[in-house]
Amino acid sequence: MLTLQKFIEKINSRTGFTGFLAYDEPMSRHTTFRAGGPADLFIRPEGEGFPAYAALLRESAGTEGIPLFILGGGANILVSDRGLRGVVLDTGGWRGAVAEASGLLVRSGTPVDEAVEAAAAAGLGGLEFLAGMPGTIGGAVWMNARCYDRSVSDVLKETEILDEAGARRWIPARPEDFGYKKSPFQGQRALIFSARFALTPRPEAEIRREMEEHRRDREAKGHYRYPSAGSVFKNNRAFGKPTGKLIDELGLRGLAIGGAMIAPWHGNIIINTGNARASEIRALTEETAARVKAALGFTLEPEILFAGDWGEGGSEE
Ligand SMILES: Cc1cc2nc3c(=O)[nH]c(=O)nc-3n(C[C@H](O)[C@H](O)[C@H](O)COP(=O)(O)OP(=O)(O)OC[C@H]3O[C@@H](n4cnc5c(N)ncnc54)[C@H](O)[C@@H]3O)c2cc1C
Repeated sequence: MLTLQKFIEKINSRTGFTGFLAYDEPMSRHTTFRAGGPADLFIRPEGEGFPAYAALLRESAGTEGIPLFILGGGANILVSDRGLRGVVLDTGGWRGAVAEASGLLVRSGTPVDEAVEAAAAAGLGGLEFLAGMPGTIGGAVWMNARCYDRSVSDVLKETEILDEAGARRWIPARPEDFGYKKSPFQGQRALIFSARFALTPRPEAEIRREMEEHRRDREAKGHYRYPSAGSVFKNNRAFGKPTGKLIDELGLRGLAIGGAMIAPWHGNIIINTGNARASEIRALTEETAARVKAALGFTLEPEILFAGDWGEGGSEE
């Protein structure tokens, strides 16, 4: 811990720091699963200095061999009970959306719903499909989030990143670089600063009507009833039906391990019924995949990301 303390003091003396900083910060406070152990050092820089601070932090962490995890809204990750070693950089302090003539410029830490609201207020259509989806714009771009038959890449024009060499640049969004829940940033360890969306004028009332439909639909599907990370597994055309349906048909709804349970109303959502440990959520994920494999021969691919220190045999992000 002393090493991290010295590390961050050195950085803060070079740039000045405003924001939130904590040692041993429980990740259960920062993930929608409400599970997961501590981050050694959790840091949320706030204000206009975010890009310069984040760049220095990432460069210094690289030089000193300190792991760095970039956190959006924590809506698609399961952090292990042992937590995350090194530094967690929370992008939540870098937010805001500005309407432009034919689109919206959004900072990565902006909650998705806030960006959708900003587009609506400016009478710009195109982001309605994301209404009610948890997480940040940075996470949605990184994941190429998808719902209601649309993906983020359908409206993404360009992305501003800090590339691996430490340069800040805009990358045009080329359709061939994106796929189902895939973005080019997944293989790069790029830090996303901003995204620009190509949107089209639409009457605000129409936009809001569509947004409300999506929000109501999510509500009706029980998305917000318990802590979760949305769909646990990806869909796959080869399965012939949605993954949730496969799991339903095997009668696995309600299956539980400790405090983790397959939602009684939706096969592809695992919920934290109260005090689930991350290990229980992960075990239930693996058990579900094993049962589907045994019964149907299909290999389910998790959509949620396992982050942190999973020890022997577990994966690390
Ligand atoms: C109730 C519920 C419903 C959901 N419904 C959907 C749905 O319909 N469709 C869908 O696709 N997903 C859905 N999700 C999952 C989740 O909302 C999305 O995947 C979302 O895009 C994740 O964003 P996040 O900011 O929370 O990312 P996080 O979970 O914080 O991070 C995900 C990954 O992105 C990386 N990352 C985040 N921000 C940045 C950045 N600025 N720069 C670089 N890397 C970054 C992280 O390092 C991590 O690897 C749902 C989740 C919940 C809880």
